[in-house]
Amino acid sequence: MIEAKRVAVVTGAGRGIGAACAKSLARKGAQVIVSDLLLDGAEQTAEAIVAAGGQAVAVACDVSVREDVESLMNRSMEVYGRLDILVNNAGIIRDNLIHKMTDDDFDQVIGVHLKGTWLCSQAAQRHMVANRYGRIINFSSTSALGNRGQANYAAAKAGIQGLTKTLAIELGRFGITCNAVAPGFIESDMTKETAARIGVEFAAFKEMAARETAVLRIGTPEDVAYAVTFFASEEAAFITGQVLYIRGGV
Ligand code: NAP
Repeated sequence: MIEAKRVAVVTGAGRGIGAACAKSLARKGAQVIVSDLLLDGAEQTAEAIVAAGGQAVAVACDVSVREDVESLMNRSMEVYGRLDILVNNAGIIRDNLIHKMTDDDFDQVIGVHLKGTWLCSQAAQRHMVANRYGRIINFSSTSALGNRGQANYAAAKAGIQGLTKTLAIELGRFGITCNAVAPGFIESDMTKETAARIGVEFAAFKEMAARETAVLRIGTPEDVAYAVTFFASEEAAFITGQVLYIRGGV
């Protein structure tokens, strides 16, 4: 359950998993600040939520830029007067083998995922601490365990696990939990981009990935949104510092 007064900020929510998380939280009753790099995408998701009877406002924000992040969290306070749930979903990939990876590839991926998660969490927790309530849900990945062509992304996603556990330790006394989801192969533009990079048809790529799972299918954005909504619920108050793999297997 999510109490009707709760306000959720979801980053990178213009499409993919972030859009599914924003819609799922809204269906459970949260008022949602739908944020994305470009306002267009955020507006589409917010409009879909409102059309379905929910409450949402779209805000543009680059999570790797402190000023953007501060104004995103302030907007939540201006519009709804509170900030209860933060979903750090925004992400990019700049895959390449280590000998071809550039400084830019590395810095951009660390900047959006690891620094972005840190900036958003830091800005959001000020409001959450004041209110003695919060749910922070971060995005790791099965790639945190190592993945060919993803030195930058794997490092960022492993870093997010350490950040998650540390925030759980520091913020628990203020009624704030911090957990991470670590998805496996989820159908989205991101996995489509990976297929294109390695020169495999997306349909064939998905079939290959499905065969490697125990449940013999790939994941959907809604599969991840379900777990995010669980961590965001009132009842998940005694669950913190956890990393939940959502990969259709072990
Ligand atoms: P996606 O379809 O590529 O969507 C990513 C979203 O993040 C887009 O809306 C994008 O905005 C936004 N974004 C990118 N850079 C941003 C920035 N600097 N500031 C704010 N927003 C930004 O990816 P997805 O598959 O939904 O992935 C969502 C999260 O799940 C990511 O953290 C990803 O690492 C993680 N994940 C995905 C998978 C998977 O298999 N798909 C597996 C494990 C983990 P634009 O539309 O403007 O580019």
